[in-house]
Amino acid sequence: MTDYVGRFAPSPSGPLHAGSLAAALASWLDARAQRGRWLLRIEDVDTPRTVPGAAERIMMQLRELGLHWDGEVVWQSRRGAAYQQAFDALAAQGRVYGCGCTRREIADSALRGPAAPGADGERPYPGTCRHGLPPGRQARAWRVRMPEGVERYTDRWLGPQEQDVAQAVGDIAIRRADGLWAYQLAVVVDDAAQGVTDVVRGADLLGSTARQRVLGRLLGLPPLRYLHVPLVMDPVSGLKLSKQNGAPPIDTAAPLAALESAWRALGFAPQEAHDVPDFLARATETWARRFPLP
Ligand code: GLU
Repeated sequence: MTDYVGRFAPSPSGPLHAGSLAAALASWLDARAQRGRWLLRIEDVDTPRTVPGAAERIMMQLRELGLHWDGEVVWQSRRGAAYQQAFDALAAQGRVYGCGCTRREIADSALRGPAAPGADGERPYPGTCRHGLPPGRQARAWRVRMPEGVERYTDRWLGPQEQDVAQAVGDIAIRRADGLWAYQLAVVVDDAAQGVTDVVRGADLLGSTARQRVLGRLLGLPPLRYLHVPLVMDPVSGLKLSKQNGAPPIDTAAPLAALESAWRALGFAPQEAHDVPDFLARATETWARRFPLP
C-alpha cells in the first residue's frame, strides 16, 4: 500500500448510469494502479435531492461490478458537526457573511455586470451583500469572501488549469439559511477528513475545482491532485448522460459488458477480457502506464 487515497463520491439521486460508472471506474483504476486506498462517500448532503434507496442501490451495483471499496462508507448527512467547524473557522477569519439575494436577483444583477460568463455559462455572484444585508432583508445563504488572485493547478488528464475565482465565481455560498450545507464546503471538508490525496471524477466538476482548492487553503488543508475524465455523452441527444437526462441504470446482470463500455467511453481500446477480474487487472495495468503520478 502507498499513501495514495482516492474516493468515489456519488450523490444518491439515482442508480449508477453509464456516466457515473465511467467516473467510478476511473477513480477505482487510479487508486488500484497506485496501490492506494479507494474510499466511498455518499454525498447525501443535499437532502431534498436524495432518493431513498439510491445509495444502497449504488453500493450494490459497485459490488456487482467488482469495484470494492476500502474502509467504512462516509455519509455526508451525518457530517454536520464537521461542516459547522469549518464554517466557524471561516467565520473567525471574518470571511463569512449573510446574503439576502434571491436566485433571480443574482442572475439579473450578474447580467448587468461587466463580467463575461465563465466557460460553462456561470455568472459570478456580484457581491451585492458583501458589505451587509440591505435594510429589511434576511439572509437566505451564507457566503465566503473569496480572496483575489488566479488559482492554478495541473489536471492529470487535462493539463494546466487556471481560474480567477473571485472574478469568475465570486463569493461562494457554503450554507443555506434553512441549514442545508453546500456541496462545495462538504466536499472540501470530507476529502481532507478522509485523508484523500487524489480526486478522480467527471469533467462536469472541473469548473468547481479552483474554488474547492481556494476553500481548502482558507481552511489550512493540504492541496489535492486532480484528474477529470471526459463526460459520457448520449449518442442520440448529444447531451451529457445524467440522471436528469434520463440515463438508464447500469445493467449489472452483465457486469463485464458494463465495464468494457465504460472503459471505451473513457477513450480506451476494448480489453476483450474474459471475465471481470481479468478486465480489472488489464485495465489497471493500462491505466498505470497512461497515468503515472507526477
Ligand atoms: N457528488 C458529486 C456528484 O455525484 C461528485 C463530487 C465529487 O466527486 O467531488 O456529482
